[in-house]
Amino acid sequence: MDLSNELETIKTIARMAASICQSIQEELVDAAQKNGREPVTIADYASQALIGHALAHNFPDDAVIAEERSEEYMLLLSDQHRMLVQRFVTDAIGGYIFEDDICVWLDFGKQKIAERTWVIDPIDGTKGFLRRGHYCVAIGLLVQGEPVLGVLASPGFYSDEVDPPPDLGTLTYASQGGGAFMEALGGGEPEPIRVSAINDPQRATLLTSFEAAHTDFALIERVERALGRGPDAPRRRLDSQDKHSMLAAGMGDIYLRLSPDPNFVEKLWDHAAGYAIVTEAGGYVTDVDGSPLDFSSGSRMLKNRGVLMTNGHLHQAVLDAIAASKG
Ligand code: AMP
Ligand code: MG
Repeated sequence: MDLSNELETIKTIARMAASICQSIQEELVDAAQKNGREPVTIADYASQALIGHALAHNFPDDAVIAEERSEEYMLLLSDQHRMLVQRFVTDAIGGYIFEDDICVWLDFGKQKIAERTWVIDPIDGTKGFLRRGHYCVAIGLLVQGEPVLGVLASPGFYSDEVDPPPDLGTLTYASQGGGAFMEALGGGEPEPIRVSAINDPQRATLLTSFEAAHTDFALIERVERALGRGPDAPRRRLDSQDKHSMLAAGMGDIYLRLSPDPNFVEKLWDHAAGYAIVTEAGGYVTDVDGSPLDFSSGSRMLKNRGVLMTNGHLHQAVLDAIAASKG
């Protein structure tokens, strides 16, 4: 399957969407410490509208699964906030943009059933966006229910390291059979990436969500104990599919996620792009019971419970530790 045209197009789109998010962060996040989710909401809608516009232009026959909907856009946002979305999207793509255009782009491809489906998280890691930490724009492509291409544009990549490099932000991407790569978000040489070769669970870096509401840290502690990992074993907590990027690039070795809410069902847009990248980089992915992830039942992963991604070498050991830690 030759996806080079798709990949180049989506890399450009993801960069533009990430740039909108950065502009909104610069302008609105500090001002909005008191009013909570507003900048996130504005950035979510602006990013998704831009992506929908670009997909409609480039791939008009494809279907889309995306987090935001125009109905909520009209219902939840004030006139003033919708004007801001219009302004940021106009700044990005030019021309005259009306509210109807934004609504059409937000919903582009949603009602369609097609062989190819784009899966979009316009801002993954909303809490990280507000904290000026890790967040990303995630765009994946399913062909007959399988993620075959993924692009993650991550403006905050490295931002919580002690000594961040001057060129902040990365673009991580892969297409099936075409390799997995990372390059600077602002442009630069693509570096091929590959998962690590670590097979000692105690030396492995464990990646988890930052938010305790998103991952059962009590379970993670039991799993770590079952793996023989002590308090000094390497671990990182961070928002968004930057975890998938890190795993794919060998900057982490295990990513384990299981919601503390037993009724929570994982969403496609939180994994499709990252899955394509991790698997192309040599990683191995299942749910916490060892079943393959199923991307074929709409926007939710109804057949799975949690997610486990590893470099492959550590996978069975972690599955065994999870099985021993249940309850
Ligand atoms: P992370 O950045 O790893 O914390 O994951 C962010 C994603 O967690 C969001 O995009 C949500 O779809 C998802 N999420 C929201 N609520 C929950 C929950 N209660 N349990 C697990 N995941 C959640
Ligand atoms: Mg998300």
